[in-house]
Amino acid sequence: MTVQASHLVSQTLENTAPLRPVVLSTWRHGLAANAEAWKILSSGGRALDAVEQGVRICESDPNNLSVGYGGLPDREGNVTLDACIMDETGDCGSVAFLQHIEHPVSVARRVMEATPHVMLVGEGALKFAVVNGFKKKDLLTNKAKKEWEKWQADHPDAIKDRQVNIENHDTIGLVAIDNKGNMSGACTTSGMAWKLNGRVGDSPIIGAGLYVDNEIGAASATGVGEAVIRAVGSFLVVELMRQGHSPQNACRLATERVIRKNPGWQKLQVGFIALDKMGRVGGYSIQPGFDYAVYDHAGRNRMVQAKSRL
Ligand code: ASP
Repeated sequence: MTVQASHLVSQTLENTAPLRPVVLSTWRHGLAANAEAWKILSSGGRALDAVEQGVRICESDPNNLSVGYGGLPDREGNVTLDACIMDETGDCGSVAFLQHIEHPVSVARRVMEATPHVMLVGEGALKFAVVNGFKKKDLLTNKAKKEWEKWQADHPDAIKDRQVNIENHDTIGLVAIDNKGNMSGACTTSGMAWKLNGRVGDSPIIGAGLYVDNEIGAASATGVGEAVIRAVGSFLVVELMRQGHSPQNACRLATERVIRKNPGWQKLQVGFIALDKMGRVGGYSIQPGFDYAVYDHAGRNRMVQAKSRL
């Protein structure tokens, strides 16, 4: 942080009362997740519990085609899940390419709290989940299976396709600040529909899909994960806030970085949300249509349409 920027931030912190608790999350499914998180935050609970319980709502929703149970499968018909969680101390846990478990975010939390590791993947993550009492479940709903069959029929040459997804029903990234001023975040997804088997996106990658620094703020990403990873997107948003940028401006500048790192960006969607230590929020995306849900300190849970580059 430059001296000037650091001075600016501390001036703001001195002159404005922080707004909290606050929770924000990606896309319209964020409204229900926020409401669940708010139950914990409004009764003085910890942001870490709030973010986990919040995103679990989306993980259990069979009508949500991009997260958890009911998520659209890879091109071979497997539902494979990615999730991570990060707390106010900077500790974090993550699972990737996890199958048959409805709540990958809770497995990620268990990785964080019960192992010396940050990330478990695939078979190992599944074994760990089962040993820790998580029940196996068939995550492919009839609805998702029908979508997959339709997609297969429409894409006989599927393996050569490059996936582009700019529709607004994606990953949930949720970040929160509690009454004590502690911040946490969680991110969970079934990833890009019809992905190659074994593909992992940005969502379980600490720094890409999610980052929390309790001194500064928290951020999460949605959209084409490969593009986010190339820019280490969420970490970048937090670092831009550290330099004195507002959450809104930090999301915009990180999106510009994604654009610079990804030729062909005009066809991609990437969106960021951010929350700073003062409880200020922001969001920005490449394509129009990205919105995010904010439950503010005054108790209003509402959708905000993000500004976009295109
Ligand atoms: N970022 C997620 C992924 O690439 C998908 C999404 O947000 O739509 O797996």
